[in-house]
Amino acid sequence: MEATKATSSHFIKNVVIEDLQAGRVSQVVTRFPPEPNGYLHIGHAKSIWLNFTLADEFGGRTHLRFDDTNPVKEDEEYVRAIKEDVKWLGFDWDALYFASDFFDEMYNRAVLLIQRGKAYVCELTAEQMRESRGTLTEPGKDSPYRGRSVEENLALFERMRAGEFPDGAMVLRAKIDMASPNVNMRDPVLYRIAHATHHNTGDKWCIYPMYDYAHPLEDAIEGITHSICTLEFEDHRPLYDWVIRECEMESTPHQYEFSKLLLTNTIMGKRYLRQLVEEGLVDGWDDPRLPTLSGLRRRGVTSEAIRSLCEETGVSKSNGQADYRMLEHFIREDLKLKAPRTMAVLRPLKVVITNYPEGQVELLEAKNNNENPEMGSRMIPFSREIYIEQDDFMENPPNKYFRLFPGNEVRLMNAYFIKCEEFVKDADGNVVELRCTYDPETKSGSGFTGRKVKGTIHWVEASQAVPAEMYLFESLVKEDSEDAEDFKDRLNPASLEIVHGFVEPGMRGVEPQTKFQFNRHGYFNVDSRYTGGDRIVFNRIVSLKSSFEL
Ligand code: ATP
Ligand code: MG
Repeated sequence: MEATKATSSHFIKNVVIEDLQAGRVSQVVTRFPPEPNGYLHIGHAKSIWLNFTLADEFGGRTHLRFDDTNPVKEDEEYVRAIKEDVKWLGFDWDALYFASDFFDEMYNRAVLLIQRGKAYVCELTAEQMRESRGTLTEPGKDSPYRGRSVEENLALFERMRAGEFPDGAMVLRAKIDMASPNVNMRDPVLYRIAHATHHNTGDKWCIYPMYDYAHPLEDAIEGITHSICTLEFEDHRPLYDWVIRECEMESTPHQYEFSKLLLTNTIMGKRYLRQLVEEGLVDGWDDPRLPTLSGLRRRGVTSEAIRSLCEETGVSKSNGQADYRMLEHFIREDLKLKAPRTMAVLRPLKVVITNYPEGQVELLEAKNNNENPEMGSRMIPFSREIYIEQDDFMENPPNKYFRLFPGNEVRLMNAYFIKCEEFVKDADGNVVELRCTYDPETKSGSGFTGRKVKGTIHWVEASQAVPAEMYLFESLVKEDSEDAEDFKDRLNPASLEIVHGFVEPGMRGVEPQTKFQFNRHGYFNVDSRYTGGDRIVFNRIVSLKSSFEL
């Protein structure tokens, strides 16, 4: 599969190679463990790419595991969307698990911890627990419940499970070391009470395991060998190892941390994305301005481009942001030879070619991609009335303006030279129509060398043109606004502009998600929600120009 071709070297790959060579593992098993509490974003793509490519390169396996230990925020809708996104990126899991499949095992291991004197039921309030946890410079204080007997703990934990206590009344805590220099080791909470219906286990449980307890057990139960997470979990690794050891797990996975993929000019965390969606500030999780995978897909970004970004930004422990323009670069690279090139007018101005016979329509040949001859050519109509771009005409042009102005001649791409003879204004003084003449001798491809013109513009024949609604995007957030206190102050009010234009008649009946290069305008994608109405809806994926160099 192209999606999993060999990738460049990185420190986690080196660990894997050493583990295989030393015989510490016989087969690499990785996992991608999303919490189904939102849609995936491009940061998650990095983790997906890393886990799948790493295992695949060494003949290993990768699991998709839904880390569904928090019933309040999780939902089936997210499970479905996450599966779709992983597949779209080009990866296929070898096994599918839900953390909730392991709730019984996790419970039994907690009982084992209690029996071994390694866990206790604590009735401090959340507030009291915070106060007694200490600080980075001061040790914490032991909980008054820390000395409970094994029997008492077992009985209370059983009653927690049976639903005898309300949310927040008590928790199960690990008994480690309240004076540990690592705050994560100061008797962390393992189980909490939550009377909530779980999307998978329904009302079977009213106690739920905490991430730091559940995650290592999930990894061990599934036989994960290399458990990859992002840097903020580095300080949790001693606890990860503690859980594996003290729960007497047979299999001993190891955790490795790498730095997150962050992108400039966008908003990433699920918390913020959810707020944008719920407050109606964007058009759903798949709004094409969002860095969600569903939003990028709807915009027309290809999974190839996203994988190239993952590969190119590397795997390391150093934090940094990737330039959004790097993604744009990979999109152009990917679509350059793949996307057919057509003419589309975004802001139309009608042109009447006064010396072209009325009622006549001729067909002209146009190449589908100048850089890729294999894509062949198509026939496009030409007649007395066409649309051009409003800004391809100026009544009073500045120097070096080579497009249409009174008395000037330009080439119509794939067609003839036309010369602007007159223009018509409406009552408000807007130019609403041009009257031009054409020179039949100058047909494209005819070898005409009589005279040269400096400008070439695109156009669409008017009588057969297909109306289109084009969504043009700017960055969702304002440049250099990262320090804003409320993230909503970062939103760019001009992030969306909708224009009504025309495309070639050959576009009629086009399928959603088809991608094109509109000459001079950039790459466009037929919106995924377009259902075949009169107006085709296009999203601009990316413009053609870039100052970005890899
Ligand atoms: P967010 O903080 O954006 O809401 P999350 O980390 O809470 O994301 P999870 O569902 O817990 O979301 O993440 C699943 C996996 O994706 C985890 O292993 C996590 O480390 C990884 N991941 C999340 N964000 C990034 C990122 N920006 N770059 C690389 N990996 C990421
Ligand atoms: Mg998370």
